[in-house]
Amino acid sequence: MLKGGATTKDEPRGLTATEMSFSMLEQWVEEHRDDLLGFAAKLVATPSPNPPGDERAVVAVILAEMECLGLDGAQICAKQPHRPNVIFHLRGKRPGATLMLCGHSDTKPVGDTVKWRTDPMEPVFRDGRLYGLGSTDMKGAVAAMVYATAALKQCDIPLAGELLLVIDADEERSMSFGSEYLAAECGIKADVALLGEPSGIDGPEFEFLHLVSRGLCCFKIRVRGTQMHSSLSDRMPSTSANLKLAETLARMQTELQLTFDPHPLCAAPTVNLGVKIEGGLGYGVYPGVAEFQSDIRTLPGMTHERLRADLERCLQRIRHDDPSLEVELEFEEPPLDWFPPTEVNADHPLVDMLLDAAQHVVGRRPKLGAFPGGTDAKNFQMMAGIPTIPSFGPGWLPLAHGPNERVGIEAIIQAAKVYALASQRFLKTESQP
Ligand SMILES: [Zn+2]
Repeated sequence: MLKGGATTKDEPRGLTATEMSFSMLEQWVEEHRDDLLGFAAKLVATPSPNPPGDERAVVAVILAEMECLGLDGAQICAKQPHRPNVIFHLRGKRPGATLMLCGHSDTKPVGDTVKWRTDPMEPVFRDGRLYGLGSTDMKGAVAAMVYATAALKQCDIPLAGELLLVIDADEERSMSFGSEYLAAECGIKADVALLGEPSGIDGPEFEFLHLVSRGLCCFKIRVRGTQMHSSLSDRMPSTSANLKLAETLARMQTELQLTFDPHPLCAAPTVNLGVKIEGGLGYGVYPGVAEFQSDIRTLPGMTHERLRADLERCLQRIRHDDPSLEVELEFEEPPLDWFPPTEVNADHPLVDMLLDAAQHVVGRRPKLGAFPGGTDAKNFQMMAGIPTIPSFGPGWLPLAHGPNERVGIEAIIQAAKVYALASQRFLKTESQP
């Protein structure tokens, strides 16, 4: 039984108004479960890989479904015509706060298909799962958000404020056509936002409610040597950039120490040195320059300046031990040089409402956590000033961007219920001024 909700005079069987709304919403979703699952399958069957990035076909499917569900009047905001973002306002009868539900319509490209047991573009329902590219990241959640909005509209639940449904483009690559464009140029506004990124990590679906979205810092370490005719490398002074690079990489792997304050929801930052290595020109040429790329997944509280100082301090120690070493640090171009971490306070009212709704629908209260990767939260929170919960959705993050991507069928239904219930409670008239 959910807490909250004022008791009204004419309630049957002692149910509060909120509980009556809850059972109506849950019943509506149950009655439409086949349509909801069919819609999720249609989204999977409509490719939207990014790169190259073109969301027109999948957005056409979304708009058609919304029209069938009575969600008329969706707007398209697009920096370029082939990168549409869908925006829909479900306005309440009284003024109040705005809650934004947001999912992205693009996917990563399929990549290597050898390990797929099904056709990645063909939605397959099997063993309680929906298989297909984008099923877990995050077409299942997009379908659930559309149906949650429809449930609130169709059940004619009295709301204050508004539910803002946003289905954005380009999350999987630059975000410049999606959340960045919406935040910087479309004036998108809300009091709080929820992203439906998959929230299972190494346990069940809805394992976590993620309040933190970790940041990302990308950089290169470049080493210089002596480019020369390789037949002379043992007769003349020569330094191989590739060998120096190998030594530098190995030393940094054991010696780099990052400065960060402990965070209650995060373990240490994740450091990936040498995600790509390049060096030399090939046979006959002694290597004159080599570099490796690296990324670090950062925590709230870390700053670019401190991270730069940590990297420079480590390089300085290596230079000190090897005066012949020519090594330099170069950060990537923005935004990859510093994609900031974000965080929503655990005492934000929406957090408890989502946890309560999950307890009611899923039968378990998810743990609070930190989403390991970057999300649209960066742009909505840092540019538009909207506190953004980065991930609470069906599916499992480890299955995203890989073979045999799948999402729990029941979790899609549960997500629609959780989104509808938490939205109803956040926007319910009695709690609004
Ligand atoms: Zn995603």
